[in-house]
Parts: sequence; C-alpha cells; structure tokens
Amino acid sequence: MSASRSFVHTALPGRVIFGSGTRVKAAEELARLQCSRAFILSGPHGAADARTLHDHLGPQAVGIFTDAVMHTPIEVTERALQNVRTRGADALIALGGGSTTGLAKAIALRTDLPQIVIPTTYAGSEMTTILGETAGGRKTTVRDLKVLPEVVIYDVELTYSLSPALSATSGMNAIAHAVEALYAKDGSPIVSIMATEAIGALARALPAIVANPREETARSDAFYGAWLCGTVLGSVGMALHHKLCHVLGGSFNMPHAETHTVLLPHATAFNGEVVPDKLAPVATLLGGGGPGQGLYDLAQRICAPTSLKELGLPQDALDRAADIAMEQPYWNPRALSRDGIRGLLDDAWHGRRPAH
Ligand code: NAD
Repeated sequence: MSASRSFVHTALPGRVIFGSGTRVKAAEELARLQCSRAFILSGPHGAADARTLHDHLGPQAVGIFTDAVMHTPIEVTERALQNVRTRGADALIALGGGSTTGLAKAIALRTDLPQIVIPTTYAGSEMTTILGETAGGRKTTVRDLKVLPEVVIYDVELTYSLSPALSATSGMNAIAHAVEALYAKDGSPIVSIMATEAIGALARALPAIVANPREETARSDAFYGAWLCGTVLGSVGMALHHKLCHVLGGSFNMPHAETHTVLLPHATAFNGEVVPDKLAPVATLLGGGGPGQGLYDLAQRICAPTSLKELGLPQDALDRAADIAMEQPYWNPRALSRDGIRGLLDDAWHGRRPAH
C-alpha cells in the first residue's frame, strides 16, 4: 500500500439478502425486526406481487397501498401515512422501483418505522439515506439515517418483467452512481473496488439481458451490480452528472433513468479530461477508447437512447438548464464554467459520440 494514501470511509448499517425467490423471506425478516404488523407498499406495476406477499404474510400484514408514483409527491405520502396509522402498523414493506422505495422512505421519515425494501429495478435508492420529495411542484432532497431501510431483499425473479428498454436505462442509471463514485471527493478504496466490480457486472449483463430478458445469470449479475451501485451511491457524494440529471428532471420533467443514460457518457468524458486515472477502469471494462466513449457505445449496443433530442427536450431549454446547473453546483473534480456545461449539454442534446 502506498504510504501517502489517506481516506475516510463511512459504512452505513443494513442487512441485505440476495438471491432468487427471496421475497418469501420477508416473514422471517419481519420477525427478526421484532415486528408483527407490516404495511405493504407498491406502485401499480408491483400491485399483484404485493398482494401475493400480503396473503403470504397472513396475520403479519395489516394493510396495503398500491398507489406509489414518481417523485414522491407529499399528497400521496400523506394518504398512505393515514392508512399506515389507522392500521397500527409497526413496519413497512416496499415492493417496487425507486418510486415505491421513495414512498416507504417518506413514511419512515415521519414515523421512524423500520423498512424492508424489495426492489424491482436497478435504481439503487434502497441503499441510501437520501429521499427526494415533491411539494407544490418543487422537488427537495433530505438526507436522514431514518430513511435508510433496515433490510433489503433482492429477489432476481422480480426483475424478469423489466423490458429490455427499462433494463437498459435502469442499468445505465445504476452505472452512473458507480462512475461518479470513482472520482468522488469522499471516495475510498473500498468504494472504488465496489464501483469497478459493479460496472463490470452491469456491462457484461445488460447486452445479454437485451438479447434475452429471461437470461438467468445476466439478470443475477445485473441486480448484483445494481446493489453495489446503490451501495456506493449511499456511501459518497455525487458530482456534475447527478446535478445535471437533477436539473433536467426537476425543472424540465425529463424521465429519470433515460436522462441518466443520455448524459452519462458526456459528463464522464468531461470529467475524464482531469481525472483520467480514476476513470481508467471504466475505459478498460467497456473497451471503447475513452471512458465516455465506452459508455456511449454500451448505450448504443443495448439500444438505449443517446440524445436529449429523442427524449423530447426542446433545444431552447439548454441555455436555461446550463444557468440552473451553475446556480448551486455540486462539488466536481473539474472546475465548472457555464460555457463548459452548455457545450456538454449541446453534445448530449445532439447525441454526439464523446471525444474521450
Ligand atoms: P420507478 O419506480 O418509477 O419505476 C420505473 C417504471 O418501471 C415504472 O413504470 C414502474 O411501474 C416500472 N417497474 C418497476 N419495476 C418493474 C419491473 N420489475 N418490471 C416491469 N416494470 C417495472 O422508477 P425507478 O427508475 O426505479 O426509480 C426512479 C425514482 O427513484 C426517481 O424518483 C428517483 O429520484 C428515485 N431514486 C432515488 C434515489 C435515492 O437515493 N433517494 C436513488 C435512485 C433513484
């Protein structure tokens, strides 16, 4: 080990169960938490699986709410919360994507109830202390240990229903956490090891899933990669890429995973000019020349969108987006200028292959 190495690493508490068919373990995990009255949450997609889980839990389940929606609007949280209180629940079980996890976290923030989260996408929210909520059309973010799920059950079987298109963009969304973890200000060797492992697993798995969404090993590898991506997202701060996605999602209502997919090659190429050593694993694992080029080529290979234009962002939004991004910038390894960001957004809008 180099004598000059220096870092601080903070690990979050939590218990993770990974495998196939693992959702049935919710009953024993509930008992392990010394809880006996679970309230189950899902979005419309996961409703059938959530009801099956409710039936499986028998008297351990006291209610169900299947109306979770994107961006965690406070009105939906309040409606669900009222149900949770009326039923006298002592735990929450969320089964669904990042939107359902967000609802569970929002309820946990207000009640401190323990959460068992059963994710069904690669978004990674289940491993973080971060909650984004919308009130009066504005999205705000809080960080609180209360929102970190006590138990996360990854059940690979639940991901077979993700279409090739959703798998591709959700997978690129996950990779974005790992890429930014590699150059994070508060990074650590273990975070870099997890991020590199995650990118390798997802880069291998996503093309195989797009070719055959029921490919067992690829589904398992992708979810494993997504778990690691969520873990690094929960461990370190994100930078320019996540800031730009937040701006486009929050102020221009752009779709979450698709926006990550399009911007990632460009934000990576932009930062790659100043931290090429930190991003070398991305270039090596994706084998496309520079790290931004490798990510762009991966997106193309898995038939994911590569331009903001095709996502429907009007070209005249780019100036305003660049202005907003400069208002309260996140820390970033490369110094930010309004022109630099505007240029990056222009490349992303047109869907040009990055130069690095
Ligand atoms: P999502 O939960 O809205 O799911 C996307 C779509 O996929 C929805 O239509 C959903 O019904 C469907 N879906 C979910 N699982 C499926 C499955 N297995 N098969 C078929 N369809 C399925 O979105 P997401 O991309 O999972 O998460 C995005 C949200 O999570 C955003 O609001 C984002 O801000 C939040 N998020 C938060 C954090 C955090 O740390 N706080 C981290 C990542 C994402």
